[in-house]
Amino acid sequence: MTREAAAERTALEDRLIALIRARGAITVADYMADALYHPQDGYYMTRSPIGAEGDFTTAPEVSQIFGELVGLWLVQSWTDMGSPASFNLVELGPGRGVLMHDILRAARLRPAFLDAAHVWLVETSGRMRLEQRRRVKDAGVRMDWADRFADVPPAPTLIIANEFFDCFPIRQFERGATGWRERMVGLAADGDGLAFTVDATPPDPSLDLPSKENVAEGAIFELSTAAEAAADEIARALHERGGRALIIDYGHLHDGYGETLQAVRRHQYWPVLSSPGAADITAHVNFERLTRAAFNAGASAHGPVAQGAFLERLGLPFRLERLSQGKSPQEVMALHQGAQRLVSPTQMGELFKAFCISAPGLPAPAGFQP
Ligand code: SAH
Repeated sequence: MTREAAAERTALEDRLIALIRARGAITVADYMADALYHPQDGYYMTRSPIGAEGDFTTAPEVSQIFGELVGLWLVQSWTDMGSPASFNLVELGPGRGVLMHDILRAARLRPAFLDAAHVWLVETSGRMRLEQRRRVKDAGVRMDWADRFADVPPAPTLIIANEFFDCFPIRQFERGATGWRERMVGLAADGDGLAFTVDATPPDPSLDLPSKENVAEGAIFELSTAAEAAADEIARALHERGGRALIIDYGHLHDGYGETLQAVRRHQYWPVLSSPGAADITAHVNFERLTRAAFNAGASAHGPVAQGAFLERLGLPFRLERLSQGKSPQEVMALHQGAQRLVSPTQMGELFKAFCISAPGLPAPAGFQP
């Protein structure tokens, strides 16, 4: 991807510059939180980011097979839980509602699952809620919206979150000459723009950063306290109420060193500190830290496994074959291209990972074993 549109000065940029001038540099996480969630000017509050017209495309937008296989995974999980007569089917960050639409269509093969399900769509953006409602309102299941997962009432719970954890604000730490220092967003030399700086004081030991000893000077370590808190909250809820969460996102298998913070605008990479509020900002998910959070909260964790392997184990080739029957050569080609994009190692198949947090005592979830 290359840079295309010109950077413009945004209202949020002016406000951040004034704030930093008055109070000093802010963390990368605070910058990211404002750029994405500022009530007036935040990216998710003002835009409809997904799809050809938006800034990025997600797996359910690439191929219907993604949502269908996730739907079957959820039905299997419900069976593993003993088919409770009533349960919450929660989606975190449902985007345009395409994934839930495909999940509910695939789940029709088990009507009892749909009868038992109370769908909860957890979404902060009013614009996205409107799109979701339009797409899934006729699915014939009980359905409600919530601002936060904490607002979903207690019951056995299945959760799906695709490209949701990558939106959590991250903090960055740089290995300096003497140890870790937090990377901050401050002012450029001319005082009239944003620039990365480094905090003068060492980070709080409670952050439990990796030992500085074997890490080269200049290395960057990223973590998201917000994502870890969300994993903790989910793990506690599943431990108490029963159920599983399927989290799919891009990220590394183990604690990695290196910068993954990136901005994207109109399907092109974009400088992270330019025009805050006008571009999407994400970072790779640190699954190792999420696993630790889940275990500490008394839940089990499975994976992460590469998305390509996960979808193939769930039967992607069979579904592709089935869908292709009776279609025109052009339609068959489009189906194959979509499926290929989901599983190919050079596209979404390896960078994206499936990860499961589970109530203890359930069997290993489908797709997580070779
Ligand atoms: N899962 C969808 C969309 C991913 S984009 C897909 O696969 O296509 C992220 C979605 O999460 C958007 O709908 C955004 O508005 C929502 N979102 C981001 N942060 C959120 C938060 N903290 N709470 C609830 N929803 C959030």
